[in-house]
Amino acid sequence: MKLFMPRIEISLSQIRDNARMLCELYGHRGISLMGVSKAVLGEPSIVEAMIQGGVKFIADSRIENIQKMKNAGISTQFVLLRTPFSQAEAVVTSVDISLNTEIETIKQLSYYAKIHNRNHQIIVMVELGDLREGVLPGDLSQFIRKILSLSRIKIVGIGCNLACYGGVKPDKKNMHKLSELVNGIQKEFQINLEIISGGNSANYEWYKSAQYIGNINNLRLGESILLGRETVNRKAIPGLHTEAFKLVAEVIESKTKPSLPFGEICQDAFGNVPSFSDRGISQRVIIALGRQDVLVSSLKSKKKLEILGASSDHIILDGKNHNLQVGDEVNFNLDYGGLLSAMTSPFIRKQFILATEAIIPVVKTLKMVSPIN
Ligand SMILES: *Cc1c(COP(=O)(O)O)cnc(C)c1O
Repeated sequence: MKLFMPRIEISLSQIRDNARMLCELYGHRGISLMGVSKAVLGEPSIVEAMIQGGVKFIADSRIENIQKMKNAGISTQFVLLRTPFSQAEAVVTSVDISLNTEIETIKQLSYYAKIHNRNHQIIVMVELGDLREGVLPGDLSQFIRKILSLSRIKIVGIGCNLACYGGVKPDKKNMHKLSELVNGIQKEFQINLEIISGGNSANYEWYKSAQYIGNINNLRLGESILLGRETVNRKAIPGLHTEAFKLVAEVIESKTKPSLPFGEICQDAFGNVPSFSDRGISQRVIIALGRQDVLVSSLKSKKKLEILGASSDHIILDGKNHNLQVGDEVNFNLDYGGLLSAMTSPFIRKQFILATEAIIPVVKTLKMVSPIN
């Protein structure tokens, strides 16, 4: 089998294991999971692995990713994470549930739902301090009242999102607040809210330490499933795989050179005037990967190779005594930003590692006969 360079090796079985273990952990106290697919651009094989692991919904911020998954034959409940506006018609026709915070948008959804003779479900997002999306708690009751007058729109839940913009931690207090808002709305309008979505991969610590989880019965998890981490401290979650993704690039130059550039110093390719410290003569290695492909600061070398710098298409490494030669492979682990950028680069091939047999038939049904995409 020919191996492409650069490539991202993706272990579907590890992603499935992570999803399964998280479903068990959270399911133990009645919390269902949405597998969040935006960091992997809705890659159908990865999403299928999440579904095999037991997630009840697949959630993505981009309608294009959801349409890609549907076209690939993925069958599940799809959730749109980012509140839509001009895409309302596409949302109504290709998404089951969308997260919403603006009445004008929900009116658009209602309008197109009528035209297409469909019902659309929404989860209303509440602002609990992180200051990204959400209706302020004091406006919630009035907001719900307006939605209830719109035809073909069904409110199926309430949610909140923390630890994204403001870095606000999910804790006893804000989770309790969400539960209380749910009680208030259910009582006031005599409706039943099925999905109380308390947050994302940052909710792990709260969950582990909470004696009482209140009405919270759903979480939306991306990073925990893909990289095995919670996101308050970026600690590995015990028992999960943290290296399901591995970025591999090839050495295209390996030479002994001085560590100080010679000649007059001007701006580099990105408009900075660089400065250097003299480390003497050393082995310098260039790999065929650059800032156009990946967030370079996110790369973690398994061999502890130091990254000296990067331009659009080259990353320069301190070769130390690793004896790297042209054509050799260099491996990196990725954090979330690195995963997002690497999956988005059209130059990085996605290669699925089919470690266990169980996953192969699924890939076949997706018409991915070759593991190289
Ligand atoms: C991206 C996103 C998530 C998933 O976040 P992770 O930290 O990857 O778990 C959950 N909810 C919303 C609204 C999002 O946009």
